[in-house]
Amino acid sequence: MRRQDATTTATGTVAIQTNMKPLTKTKALAKLKKMKTNYQRFVRDEYEHKAKDCLTCEVQGICCTDAHFVNVHITRLEAVAITKALEKLDRATLEIVYQRVSETIEKYDLNDSGDTLEKKFACPLFEKGTGCLVHKEGKPLPCITHACYENKEDLPPNTVQLKRESAVELLNTRTFGNAWNWLPLPVWIRKIATERTENTEGLKSGLKI
Ligand code: SF4
Ligand code: SF4
Repeated sequence: MRRQDATTTATGTVAIQTNMKPLTKTKALAKLKKMKTNYQRFVRDEYEHKAKDCLTCEVQGICCTDAHFVNVHITRLEAVAITKALEKLDRATLEIVYQRVSETIEKYDLNDSGDTLEKKFACPLFEKGTGCLVHKEGKPLPCITHACYENKEDLPPNTVQLKRESAVELLNTRTFGNAWNWLPLPVWIRKIATERTENTEGLKSGLKI
């Protein structure tokens, strides 16, 4: 699943904001959660009933694990939301997921510079038998948008995701200033998980990532 080509439009939207009111991380996370929940509901109600049923899919999960296809990008704020959601997993599972995140970065040579959208990877947040580990909380926008449609005209128009990407960008800017960007999901997860394991905010436990 590809992040739609929104960088230019969305970044432009943020660039023209002036006198932006700063947000605390806590408030920004609450706004992000509300926005994503509403977006998930909107896509489900307006579009998903026209798509193939994932429950009867003969290649269930390929949309998350196909390394020729997936290049999901997220922002710093979304990475914070995702790591907080992952920290609700039991310790052993979290260790495995973080190990998978690191292995994915090495295997697919993911980094935070150059044309990061060009690089594809199998998403480390897909768990066999469970599916997406952040389906209920923190799911990236392109993953919320994505479904398999037989008819092209049934797909949600690009604008529905672009609008939410602009909103996510604005939340990041209000919270972190310029200290964020769109990066491959595993790259941001490792950065934030490392920060959180190194300070008192997260799992001060020597958890390896
Ligand atoms: S999104 Fe498509 S490929 Fe993925 S599980 Fe659903 S039907 Fe299958
Ligand atoms: S975040 Fe979830 S839905 Fe998106 S690619 Fe990864 S496992 Fe799939």
